[in-house]
Amino acid sequence: MNLSELNYFLTDNKQPNFRLKQIINAVYKENYINFNDIQVLPIDLRDKLSENFDIIPFTIDKILKSKDTLSYKALLITADNKYIETVLIAAKNNTWSACVSSQIGCKLGCKFCATGNSGFTRDLSAEEILGQVLFWKNYLSSNKLGKLTNIVYMGMGEPFLNWNNVSISLKKLIDPGLFDFSSRSISVSTSGITDGIIKLANEFDQVNLAISLHSANDETRSKLMPINHKHNLNDLKQALDYYTSKTNRKVFLEYIMLHKLTDTTEDADNLINFINSFEKKHLLHVNLISYNTTASKYKASTKDEIEKFQTYLQKNKINTTTRKSLGNEINGACGQLSGNKPKDKTD
Ligand code: SF4
Repeated sequence: MNLSELNYFLTDNKQPNFRLKQIINAVYKENYINFNDIQVLPIDLRDKLSENFDIIPFTIDKILKSKDTLSYKALLITADNKYIETVLIAAKNNTWSACVSSQIGCKLGCKFCATGNSGFTRDLSAEEILGQVLFWKNYLSSNKLGKLTNIVYMGMGEPFLNWNNVSISLKKLIDPGLFDFSSRSISVSTSGITDGIIKLANEFDQVNLAISLHSANDETRSKLMPINHKHNLNDLKQALDYYTSKTNRKVFLEYIMLHKLTDTTEDADNLINFINSFEKKHLLHVNLISYNTTASKYKASTKDEIEKFQTYLQKNKINTTTRKSLGNEINGACGQLSGNKPKDKTD
């Protein structure tokens, strides 16, 4: 919803000054996504607004729910008839995280990723990114499931390759008059676009940063993530040194556990050496991720292999956790969003 256009429209239609505030309150605080449901507005105005504006710029195709009800995935159709996916994941005590997409598809073609394997269509606008957040806020409140407290830019696309729209969306998410999220409840995940890391440090120094690292060996990382040819581990280290010295904030290194490709003792040693090369190494935190089955040639590490790898890192004083993979059965986990129309079950 474009607020300046809405404001012009209200002025043209001789509406009192408080109307905009009423609409903002109804949308951002009370979670309405249809003008016709906003009872505080006169009926004729609701009709006119519905004809001229969309609060969320999508139609809803499907909402999938995992059996344990701890994750949901929505398939949304944009105005130009493209599919995008967005995911909701349970945090704790009836709070939830929304994982938003920033692009339709992705140019970077990481080998383990369903999005990367389905090509690139276009960037999402700031409205389309924020529309996913409005959608989940409405879903949680209509179904009395709890509150949306965290936003992660970890869905389809590389956020730093759509920085213009992502930065506009970040400003609105932290705007106290609109979404009013705290910066620290928002995370941006990147494949390692170094100039993006610098921009985040300079413009949003309290927003969390996660790096899809996946290997601390240039050869292996380039095989898994072609972007490593352009921004290699040394470039990444320099950008992260800048980020940590500027923000003094923790950085999450996401690391997919792939059998005999990223999970050997040699891989662990590479990771330890990479982290130990940082001046502020205490700010680097490794998240080991069990691989979700996508249509790729890679095999997931076993539970024992992951445990062994984690123990080895911890013995070497590396901050490490394993990330619980939620949403696997609805293809809503990391690396599984593709924007393809699902054939499976609906809510
Ligand atoms: S992992 Fe991220 S950067 Fe890589 S292809 Fe998938 S969406 Fe793009």
